[in-house]
Amino acid sequence: MYCRSCGKELTGTPEFCLDCGARPMAGSGFCPACGAATTAMTGICTKCGARVAGRGDNTLPVLAHILGLFTGWLGPLIILLVTKEERVKNHARMALNWQLSFIIYSIVSGILILAFIGFVLLGVIFVLDVIFCIMAAVKAGRGELWKYPLTIPFLKAKPDSSGTA
Ligand SMILES: [Zn+2]
Ligand SMILES: [Zn+2]
Repeated sequence: MYCRSCGKELTGTPEFCLDCGARPMAGSGFCPACGAATTAMTGICTKCGARVAGRGDNTLPVLAHILGLFTGWLGPLIILLVTKEERVKNHARMALNWQLSFIIYSIVSGILILAFIGFVLLGVIFVLDVIFCIMAAVKAGRGELWKYPLTIPFLKAKPDSSGTA
């Protein structure tokens, strides 16, 4: 691989670049596959066509939260299964946690409809779902991982080895 900070060719995937001392994946100046110059906004290397995981590429994280709004747990689960990037997986995990909590809260509210208060609770939960998914998507667009409030942590975020979290 090539150091993303200084562009020097490295053997294997060392934790720190032997040349500049930075984490090889932390920079955005060079393609890790071929060493060509890239920018922070580069998604696909123009020279070799490799996917360059840059800070600018937040499409999948945003999608994980927005899909939750329309598909419930299904969309985030699919993204969690198809992506190889820990950074993207973490967004899918946070979205899944909320969507699963959302189901549980909905069932509880459904039962409480018998006690009338369930109608109010259901309304509140559905409004929260819309607000939470949009807030998480907006933050994901800025590269931030947001933990949904009132959420049961079924899945935990894992450290992002690529250093671009
Ligand atoms: Zn370096
Ligand atoms: Zn390249």
